[in-house]
Amino acid sequence: MATESARLGVCPNCDDSITNGYLLIEYETESGLERFAECPNCREIVHPGR
Ligand SMILES: [Zn+2]
Repeated sequence: MATESARLGVCPNCDDSITNGYLLIEYETESGLERFAECPNCREIVHPGR
């Protein structure tokens, strides 16, 4: 069961899709799970969107 290609979402800057391997931090907040990832395309630390 390979999960490394699971998609986290898309980069809000360049619209590229970000996969699980680029996830940096994941934490719970009052409103749910927050994630930060490094975009493989623009190299920014972003909040992957849908
Ligand atoms: Zn990007």
